Amino acid sequence: MRLAVFSDFRIGVVQGQEIFDVTSVVPVGLDELPAQRMNWLIAHWSGAHSRVDAILRNAQPIPLGAVKLMAPNPAPPHVFAAPANYKKHIGELGDRAVTKKGRSAREQGFFLKAPGSIVGPGGVIALPKQSTRRFDHESELAVIIGRAGRDIPRAKAMEYVFGYSCLIDATMRIEPGVGEEERSMRKSFDGFTPLGPFLVTADEVPEPSNLLNRLWVNGEIRQEANTRDMIVDIPELIELISSVLPLSPGDVIATGTPDGVGPFAPGDSVRIAIDQVGDMTLRVVERDVASPRPY
Ligand code: MN
Repeated sequence: MRLAVFSDFRIGVVQGQEIFDVTSVVPVGLDELPAQRMNWLIAHWSGAHSRVDAILRNAQPIPLGAVKLMAPNPAPPHVFAAPANYKKHIGELGDRAVTKKGRSAREQGFFLKAPGSIVGPGGVIALPKQSTRRFDHESELAVIIGRAGRDIPRAKAMEYVFGYSCLIDATMRIEPGVGEEERSMRKSFDGFTPLGPFLVTADEVPEPSNLLNRLWVNGEIRQEANTRDMIVDIPELIELISSVLPLSPGDVIATGTPDGVGPFAPGDSVRIAIDQVGDMTLRVVERDVASPRPY
């Protein structure tokens, strides 16, 4: 099933070029916290799935083009991210990389991106005003967690996966001696975590470790890799993160970028496509509000 969040945090099921509104499956109490609806649905999926099917039998289709899609989970509890998780990517950033050469996510562990940096398909990646820094795209498969778990062994990890989405891990690079801000901040500007276009449930992606992951800037291909080339695979990432803290339903794991990471600038159009998972395009813009300090 392809789940979406649209308009003002409504929950939809996408079939072909149509979307069906199934928001009524979520308790009305969550109308006070609509950004939490998808977290609730994921946490209650085993009981809610059949009710979604029942709503679908009587729902009226809405043309997909007539709605504004939001990120398919607009407010996950956490956004975990793997650094240096494809062999070819390691080393390509030279002295702009904070990950030491030769070290992968296995040694480095994970970092966090602010959930507030998430934006949906058709949204914008907003760069600081008049910045002289380098901003890069990273094309990544996102794993969405379905069940709470702690100390999950890798052999059982896939049971905790709810589904998948496309994620761009946008990044302001360090500039040695000029700007060496914390990684979490450099990756958490408004719109620096495009997620979407849909949340595809795990049953529709039987082989997540064999998917073509591609990214284009202004129609020119920049990144093209298969998820089989990850160093730390999805089960090991779940084992690693859950050995540190509990995973929650709705959590997002950005699984790391392959090589081909490169810069974008205001006016650019960035497209990500992952087989069986989705395809979306975002625009890069410059903010019109100056920062109190230059970037
Ligand atoms: Mn990344």
